[in-house]
Amino acid sequence: MAVRNNRLSAEEYERQFSDIHPPFETHDAALVEANRCLYCYDAPCTKSCPTSINVPKFIKQITTENLKGAAHTILTANIMGGGCSKVCPVEKLCEGACVYNLMEEEPIHIARLQRYATERAIAEKWPLFTRKPSTGKRVAVVGAGPSGLSCAHVLAAEGIDVTVYEKESKGGGLMTYGIAAYKVTPEFCEAEVNFITSIGGIDIQYNKELGKDITIDQLLSAYDAVYLAFGVGLTRQLAIPGEELHGVTDAISFIYDIRNSGYPSVPVGDKVAVIGMGMTAIDAATQARRLGASEVTLVYRRTQQEMPCTEAELDIAKLDGCKIIWLAAPKEIKGENGQVTALVCEVMKLEDPGYGRPAPVPTGETFSLYVDMVIKATGQMPYERMVNCYALDNTQGKLSINNSHTSKPGVFAGGDCVNGGKEVVDAVQAGKDGAKAILQYLFKD
Ligand code: SF4
Repeated sequence: MAVRNNRLSAEEYERQFSDIHPPFETHDAALVEANRCLYCYDAPCTKSCPTSINVPKFIKQITTENLKGAAHTILTANIMGGGCSKVCPVEKLCEGACVYNLMEEEPIHIARLQRYATERAIAEKWPLFTRKPSTGKRVAVVGAGPSGLSCAHVLAAEGIDVTVYEKESKGGGLMTYGIAAYKVTPEFCEAEVNFITSIGGIDIQYNKELGKDITIDQLLSAYDAVYLAFGVGLTRQLAIPGEELHGVTDAISFIYDIRNSGYPSVPVGDKVAVIGMGMTAIDAATQARRLGASEVTLVYRRTQQEMPCTEAELDIAKLDGCKIIWLAAPKEIKGENGQVTALVCEVMKLEDPGYGRPAPVPTGETFSLYVDMVIKATGQMPYERMVNCYALDNTQGKLSINNSHTSKPGVFAGGDCVNGGKEVVDAVQAGKDGAKAILQYLFKD
């Protein structure tokens, strides 16, 4: 693969990676939007939020100039409400449920309003939360991502001393390392983590990995309970010839490098194929384009109807000039001198298996895409090895829980390591559920 780093000017990089959803430019613009809200009884927007943010309440608080109250309403339900306002697929959640859709009018811009309140709270470090006196109880949390931090914040507020063990050098998990840079900046992620820990009682130990630096048994002997929120790990392999060639990478590593090393230093091909059609695939494809790839093609084995990403995400990819080939599955990656030269795809058709989603089956017809980079975005594998190593009940590496309890007494879990990888907002709710179960466990007498 031709190493195409530093191919754009500093100004071009800045433009390509600037905020894709700009905030309200003025206070009046936010007020006008907030005043459109009908403050529905039994609000469908709240019902469709996995963390049940009281949307009409916080919007009303904005209209009455009570921005601190609005931020408190949001962050009480979702301590990562700032980040979620930038990365949530709102067209599938709150905004998709807004009653204005029924009137065929523009839904309330809930995410922008949420961002309006929470960004101020985080930037100005509003002390919205206080901590109860210490109970003397200690809990270890594994993973400083959305699930771990959400759990830690609830526990800390209740007077529990929490130590979070994080294998990376920064907190935020997927928010910090796995999402396109034009959606949420590393600076914002860092500020959000600092805001969460500012409640006190949360000590994050960075560069400490479960199974390498610490074990569950060590944690169990030093703490009153353990919450596992280590997410999902490796990208699922394609298991096709040529996967080892230079120029084949996975979307999570690609995005991680952009987030971690800065975009000008990340190599990108000239012609790039991205396999998959989830949000991570879209993030990888659009960022490859924005890094300067001249041609990016997304390859998906089903059709637009079954794609996991939202229509809004698809539109972003199209606006960025990415091509999409539906009903195609990778068959082989070809190369010369160890470098990718082509992706051979099989044309698929859909058949009804009698249950679930239509199943893609090969037609026997093939075609080649002449590319010098292939990015795999076909989902992630749970940390099966880790889960098995601790003999925790699981299904194909996904931890099995009952009311957040794992099969090991005193060990709780939630987030991607349980569900296999959902939205940030789902992980935040899992962290709240985990904290509730841990509090019941610690104070059961
Ligand atoms: Fe406001 Fe729309 Fe929610 Fe109704 S559904 S409360 S109009 S945001």
